[in-house]
Amino acid sequence: MKILLATVPPWLPYHSYLSVPLLTGILKENGFSVIQKDYNVEFYNNILSSDEINAQFKLFAKQGATNPDPKKQGLVEISEYLTGQIDMFKSSVKQEESYNDEKLLQNSFEMLDLTLKTFSLNFPEIELALGEVKYLFDHYDIDEVFKYIYDDGNFFRYYFTKYHLQEIQKEQPDVAGFSITTAEQLIPALTFAQILREYKSDIRIFLGGSYISRVAQNLITDNRFNELVNSVLRGYSEDTIGELMQAYQHGRELDHIAGILYRKGENIINAPLPSYKFIKDVPFPNFDNLPFDLYFSPYRKLPVELSKGCYWGKCKFCELNNEVYTAKTAERIFSEVAYLHNRYNVSHFPFVSASPSPKLLYAIATKIKEAGLKITWSTMIRPEAYIDEMFAQRLYDGGMRLAKIGFESGSQKMLDAMNKGMYVESNKNVLRALHMAGINVHGYFMYGYNGETSSDIEKTEIFIKEERPMLTSLATSFYTEIYKPADGLRIYKLPNMDKSKYIKSII
Ligand code: SF4
Repeated sequence: MKILLATVPPWLPYHSYLSVPLLTGILKENGFSVIQKDYNVEFYNNILSSDEINAQFKLFAKQGATNPDPKKQGLVEISEYLTGQIDMFKSSVKQEESYNDEKLLQNSFEMLDLTLKTFSLNFPEIELALGEVKYLFDHYDIDEVFKYIYDDGNFFRYYFTKYHLQEIQKEQPDVAGFSITTAEQLIPALTFAQILREYKSDIRIFLGGSYISRVAQNLITDNRFNELVNSVLRGYSEDTIGELMQAYQHGRELDHIAGILYRKGENIINAPLPSYKFIKDVPFPNFDNLPFDLYFSPYRKLPVELSKGCYWGKCKFCELNNEVYTAKTAERIFSEVAYLHNRYNVSHFPFVSASPSPKLLYAIATKIKEAGLKITWSTMIRPEAYIDEMFAQRLYDGGMRLAKIGFESGSQKMLDAMNKGMYVESNKNVLRALHMAGINVHGYFMYGYNGETSSDIEKTEIFIKEERPMLTSLATSFYTEIYKPADGLRIYKLPNMDKSKYIKSII
């Protein structure tokens, strides 16, 4: 039995994502034949090519389109320039020299984004940007989603048919699985599923990932979904993917598999989610045969997962509130990093967990320093008050180069309201300690949480202004309430506020 596992667009194409290599590692250890694909990075390389851009402009001209939209006309006017330069823009984000030239890099990324707009000429219902698709219809509405999937003007049908159908016909997978972690990936994944189904009607197609895990119950009752998808593996699937593949291989029932959701005759089988604990001998992720040269960075990077959940787990706005925290040991993480470093010649590791404990990070840094391993890493970290200069120095010496911190607010009242379990003054001390050690810090700030007043906003602005020299970069966002959708596909409530008021004050 041949299994295809794939990451689908849109995601930022800077490095491989973890879920597919993780599951590939587990299945290969268990003797399955797996073809793993990063369709996301292939997507941006294929469509950002002079041939493809040229084809888009030609198609637009052939259709005799006279478009009064000045933005589209503007694109047509610079078509020769974009077609001629696109390969250069793409290669400049992959080469060390141009990558380290801030202005050139920014210009290249802006031009890549501008070039991606070319696809709206012929596919007016989408707008592409790097790592993003904006749908100009309600892509949280199930009927709208299926209307687009079966529409002749579906951009993703054009794309997958042109670039991937042939290889699928050659590889002939019996099972295909797609990871869907954002709402924007649902249409590309279901479109590809539909192409596969047309080509091979008995192929088994399953979906996994955090987004589909949350909305699949609203899709499973829909025949259009069931015609394309055989099952959804909800929750963490490290322990359950092997069982699902065994069941498919031997024609067994799926009902006993934790987290499985599927239609069985007239019944919906919806098994309770799996609980998960890292075990010492879970196989290392397998990144074999991924196209390392295609990623939009001159530095090879591979993601490493340290933990699931959050050891604090009490912030009221957070999805990880009350989630069980489980972490790998420092020994296990060190051997994983050393293995990936040697096997794939990689020296940069984004640690991708939402909230690993700083003490775990300290233990990993100590092991890396003691072993003399020449690698660097980035991570999320909670600014615990015990992170002083010595602690930060050890993190730096063990390879930490970027700390991403959710400061959220400069108002103690708001931190308390969110139940962040932290203090404004000690946050400043931690920021200083990390900065002094040479670690870059990216800060996240959130506006609009319940009860925030203009005086709280002002305190956040003062925090940002005063600490700006120590913040390498920062991002602001607006509080969006998370909820479990009773129907449809939306998992966040839109913030109900005048964003421009806040954005202006920050700029
Ligand atoms: S510390 Fe971060 S990850 Fe943990 S609960 Fe709070 S916001 Fe969520």
